[in-house]
Amino acid sequence: MKKFNLPKKMRAVVTYGPGDYRLEELPVPSPKAGEVLIKVDHAGVCASDAKCFYGAKHFWGDETRDGYCQPPITAGHEFAGLVVALGDGAEEKHGVRVGDMVVAEQIIPCGRCRYCITGRYWMCLLHDIFGFRQSVPGSWAEFMILPAASRIYKLPDGMSGREAAVIEPLACSIHAVQRAEIQLGDVVVVAGAGTLGLGMLAAAKLRGPSLLISIDPREYRLRAAEKMGADLVLNPRKEDVVSKVRELTGGCGCDVYIDATGYADSVLPGLLMLRKLGTFVEYGVFAEPATIDWTIIGDMKELNIHGAHLAPYTFPLAIDYIHRGVIDVSNIVTHELPLEKYPEALKMVHEAKESIKVLLRP
Ligand SMILES: [Zn+2]
Ligand SMILES: [Zn+2]
Repeated sequence: MKKFNLPKKMRAVVTYGPGDYRLEELPVPSPKAGEVLIKVDHAGVCASDAKCFYGAKHFWGDETRDGYCQPPITAGHEFAGLVVALGDGAEEKHGVRVGDMVVAEQIIPCGRCRYCITGRYWMCLLHDIFGFRQSVPGSWAEFMILPAASRIYKLPDGMSGREAAVIEPLACSIHAVQRAEIQLGDVVVVAGAGTLGLGMLAAAKLRGPSLLISIDPREYRLRAAEKMGADLVLNPRKEDVVSKVRELTGGCGCDVYIDATGYADSVLPGLLMLRKLGTFVEYGVFAEPATIDWTIIGDMKELNIHGAHLAPYTFPLAIDYIHRGVIDVSNIVTHELPLEKYPEALKMVHEAKESIKVLLRP
């Protein structure tokens, strides 16, 4: 077995509060029974990381509820890394060895709650996700522990870091597409052409839609959407997207609308451009609540409203699609920055002026 000489200290970006993240020196953790220590190769900056940094209520709470984030905690839930040490029994438990490149799912299921024991671990009551919850420090660090309950996958030989970086978001996109229950020949609209929206386009394409439409206000993202398989791209700043979709569908509307924007403004247009009995999938963390007239959902259209969260059982599929080139992810990673430039990376993701997926390299 390979041996790595590990340093005593490592750099890590620690979340203290909205706008208050600090680059700190922390001890390199050592793996306990069933745990895996990885050297982080790269860590993705998710839109949710930017929302957390910029103070979204979901993470920090308000009068009505507690926030999801538990500071102080090392940030980051997207990553791939090299296995450098294994706790007792970890090799057998996870099927990985020192020297393997691995990824792990964002959530660490408790294994005991009603959801976990019925196989719906992604809804785990405890809901520990790397980088947000106190017990599971994240990937914006040189080293990171994958706890015994982690869902770990070894990467195929020859997969590049840039490909590996897209596994987590693509797995999420695949789940959203599964929730959309797309039928052959459906007209499908994906709102938002960031990392998740682009993955959804590629996955939706595999379901054989008759027309696959991408909506995004940023032209550079629409160009990426075309590369990911969109038949048509629409810019809501330039045209009335609801009328356009109705016009393209003989006045009926689209069969499926998947929202990957995370913006409240995209909910109503989606409900309006869907046909009656259509399906709306919501995959986003909203910075602000969406206020809409629910009459559209019941009385007017009898819509199916499907939430989608995380990436249950879809990591192996995402790895396979990327590895075999079924989905080409080469256009998704646009920037790589050293770990200490995390403020710049967060700003880049927040502003979305030219970036799609931004990576940090510890
Ligand atoms: Zn994410
Ligand atoms: Zn659970």
